[in-house]
Amino acid sequence: MLHCNSSLSYYTRHNMSSVCRIMIFQRSLQVPSGEDEKMGNNEMAAGTRSRQRLAQQVIDQLRMQIETGKLREGDQLPTEPQLEAAFGVSRTVVREAIADLRAAGFVRPVQGKGVFVSDPNMHARLVLTPVEVKSIPETLELLEFRMAVEGEAAAIAAYRRTAEQEAAIRLANRKMAQLIESGEPTVEADYEFHTAIAKASNNRFYIDALRHFGPRAIPRGQFPTLPEANDRAYLEKVHAEHGEILAAIAEQDPDRARQAMRAHMMASQRRYRMLAEQQ
Ligand SMILES: [Zn+2]
Repeated sequence: MLHCNSSLSYYTRHNMSSVCRIMIFQRSLQVPSGEDEKMGNNEMAAGTRSRQRLAQQVIDQLRMQIETGKLREGDQLPTEPQLEAAFGVSRTVVREAIADLRAAGFVRPVQGKGVFVSDPNMHARLVLTPVEVKSIPETLELLEFRMAVEGEAAAIAAYRRTAEQEAAIRLANRKMAQLIESGEPTVEADYEFHTAIAKASNNRFYIDALRHFGPRAIPRGQFPTLPEANDRAYLEKVHAEHGEILAAIAEQDPDRARQAMRAHMMASQRRYRMLAEQQ
């Protein structure tokens, strides 16, 4: 296990490994306030901690148990209600954490039985190239920027989109589902989905911001080591997140659209942080 001193002043005074820098940078990116997050009963008691931060804590705890051998290959994870009680979080938080661990290959669901710890080789094989590892801080920065810009674009799109623009977002979403199904690359389709939302904001500057980055705004395109075609669990999770954004825009609910877009970006940040920690 890698241990990093989490003090930023320490970071400025000492040379740290790139992975440590990434981890600290990522921590500094976490959203401190839960103001626009939907809170469960227990999260309300957690004060300013956001749902995303709680999900990260559940992930960290479960990962530690897997990595220290407390939970071994083939062991069944506690049930959702047990995890809710153990961590004092809502079912939404538990589900988000499990989905991330599943996408990273730490656990796998067995239909009708529950969630089990995977073969450790499943998650050990994702070794990034040095160039990819080096690009993670920039990826996290870009996601932070996109969270601000696209969160607002989604909120505005929710009340300003025309019926045609809603249909275009829906079409891009369906196209991505088909590509996942047939195992084809999805980066362009993902970008199209986000562009359709920017267009539905009917504000040229949101559209310009996305065009400025082009499809490289979608991080996984910058990580050729990630076996995208084989990473179906992850892509399905991404598609489900898109579905949440689309539903909120279709129902003309700006707050929910903003929250869904932000959650989508935060989930992506968690993924790259997790990948960095595995290097
Ligand atoms: Zn996306």
